[in-house]
Amino acid sequence: MNTFQALSISALAFSIPAVGAMEERQPTRYERIYDEFINIKADQARIAHVSNLSIIRDAGNFFFQDGTFYLCTPIDRKDRVCVFLGKGSFLFTPPNEIERAQTQRTLEKDSLGQEFHSLLLVVGDSTIEELKTKLQFNPGAIPPEVSSYLKSSLKYQGEKDGKNADFFIMKTFLEDNRNELFYTQFNSKGETPLMFLIDPYDEEQVCLLRRAKSAHYQDRRDVISQFQAGNRAPNQDLMTNWFRCNKYTLEIHIADNLDFSASAEIAIDRAQRDDKWLSFLLIDELVVDSVLSAKNMHLSFFKGELNPLLWIEYPLLPDHSLQDTVRIFYHGDAIKKDDGSIYLRSSLAWCPLPYTGKSAYQKKRSMDVTYRIPSTYTIVSVGKCVSRSTTEEQSITRWITEKPVRHFSFNIGKFKEHHVTQDSLPPVTVLMTPSGDSDVQEDVASDIQSSVDFYQFVYGPCPFSSLYACDIPSWSGEAYPGMINLSNSTFQSSDEISYDVAFRAHEVAHQWWGISVGFHSYHDQWLSEGFAEYSSYWFTQLRLKNNKKFFDLLTGARKRIFQARKYLLSSGQKTGPISLGYRNETSATKGDYFRIVYGKGAWVLHMIRNMMLDSKTMDEKPFMRMMKEFYSEFRDSAATTNDFKKIVEKYLNQDMTWFFDQWVYGIELPTYSFDYSKRRLPDGKYAVHCTVVTEDVSERFKMPVLLYLDFGDRRYYRLRVWVQGRKCEFDLPILPLEPKDILFNDLSSVLCEVD
Ligand SMILES: [Zn+2]
Repeated sequence: MNTFQALSISALAFSIPAVGAMEERQPTRYERIYDEFINIKADQARIAHVSNLSIIRDAGNFFFQDGTFYLCTPIDRKDRVCVFLGKGSFLFTPPNEIERAQTQRTLEKDSLGQEFHSLLLVVGDSTIEELKTKLQFNPGAIPPEVSSYLKSSLKYQGEKDGKNADFFIMKTFLEDNRNELFYTQFNSKGETPLMFLIDPYDEEQVCLLRRAKSAHYQDRRDVISQFQAGNRAPNQDLMTNWFRCNKYTLEIHIADNLDFSASAEIAIDRAQRDDKWLSFLLIDELVVDSVLSAKNMHLSFFKGELNPLLWIEYPLLPDHSLQDTVRIFYHGDAIKKDDGSIYLRSSLAWCPLPYTGKSAYQKKRSMDVTYRIPSTYTIVSVGKCVSRSTTEEQSITRWITEKPVRHFSFNIGKFKEHHVTQDSLPPVTVLMTPSGDSDVQEDVASDIQSSVDFYQFVYGPCPFSSLYACDIPSWSGEAYPGMINLSNSTFQSSDEISYDVAFRAHEVAHQWWGISVGFHSYHDQWLSEGFAEYSSYWFTQLRLKNNKKFFDLLTGARKRIFQARKYLLSSGQKTGPISLGYRNETSATKGDYFRIVYGKGAWVLHMIRNMMLDSKTMDEKPFMRMMKEFYSEFRDSAATTNDFKKIVEKYLNQDMTWFFDQWVYGIELPTYSFDYSKRRLPDGKYAVHCTVVTEDVSERFKMPVLLYLDFGDRRYYRLRVWVQGRKCEFDLPILPLEPKDILFNDLSSVLCEVD
């Protein structure tokens, strides 16, 4: 790859300083270090016998009973890697209940004790130095198993052609750091390879991984357990030490054939950290041409093909200033053209995004973007369009965000536009491909407007002054500040009450939940997805007045949760808790992110709504007041599950730890069977005795359940009963009339199955 290849963006208004385009390119530090790592070999001068040695790192305990350590060739003159062959064992006990339960679900034991016969060790810490003081390293013969084991272990490092390796390893090596990095892979006969990791760059440093199910040409890993070193409480200021990109100024040029080229000027704030290498996510298809500092100095960088990480070597400024600017010039195939439809290959990583570790979220940034596109196309972007000029060939628009945003994107295409305006609502523009049906387009616009109106009523003012909805060739939707992308499939159907209505309303709801009220970490992501999902159900019920559809949506989510992997005759792994966030999705638990974070998240909100409902008057103002207060309190900031728990406690006037433990941090799902007997009393009134048998949950599991007593002739009565324990028996208050029927779990007040 020629890093300084000639730019195909001569039409751009901005200029790129000339570089020695034809000179012989020296490998970058990244390439040198990557090559040293990926081609590493055992050093025949340094082999040591070991017996009864233990190495403990946080929750991981390695015992090397008898075998040989082979030190490998140095990387950047440091000993970083070694291989062990022999007899050893690994003990691992996660420090908290949630992680122990997760280990139990995946490995069928809540702590792990496993023997191994081979192990790869990669460190940033002093482990190898310590081995050198404890063991006698001498020259010797290297058995062929060592190099074959090295080769197979390094397959987990990613795409070789793209020189792609684990971020935490490359960052440690590139910055020549002495840190806590401790990565091991170990194998035992007949078992799936496991990896234990201390990642110094992640908020949750300790991690147990294993080879993904049916991993093939390139080996992948699933996370089994992950937590903070020392089992510390979650850090409220996660990643404060990371570099931040506060402001982006982008110039984008899209040619007639839709070739994409851009320059991104990024204001960097290094915080306190001496970050010498900055890493950005940028899709494989984009090629970086050059990277300049604020003073037009060329900075060394590396981005391989098939490698989504751009690494920039970024020396500390002479004045030790922490703020600086980098300019990145890049081009490539960011826009995909398929059967007449046009879309971004990645709706986010077409622009260099700071990458700061596997569980970190993007920080907010302000964006100022100028798009130059052929005048035959339309562009719609996040932000406010502040200028627009069009010639016969080119259309130039500039978009600026009104407040910092976490996610930014745009859409380009040939669209049919439909605008709707109404007093007190932000104007809505729906952009659809020209072949679409205008009636459906109007339905989409009306659904969007109506859901905005509904959410303003139940949550509070819409956080954005206008809303765009774009037709995109995808099976899913996405939401950005003031812009939503809707799957092309939702423009196919004019069916008045269909899943499409809920789908559109879900994406609209993200303007409140996810975008305006953000979430703190992946453990809290249900506050975005679960809330948006329930908002769409609620909209169906209250605004469209379709109770049946509302309960159908809830039932659909319930079935997905209860029937997860039941087709495997219950042999599949159980679903995890909501708080596990994206980690619910592994190669063995496909679909669980949607099933749990969206579906069960929505159910949690539904159960809270039911608990707040006045069963006599059906008044639900307290729930609405609570949602409004939560929205206004956390608008423009990031909420945690605990923040939400506090407000639920305030409105229900009780400690709700039991509820959140059961439903957000726990995985139990009750199955109830209900029975009752009625008896006529001498005074003509009725006594009713009820029995509820509960299965599949622990003894302490409890829930208030709504009963619906039907007396016939449209006379009914609702009451709430507490159900706890294996067999729960209770008498209803004496009834003045004979109940014709009693419905258990009215209004689907609990996520359960009823036999
Ligand atoms: Zn969503």
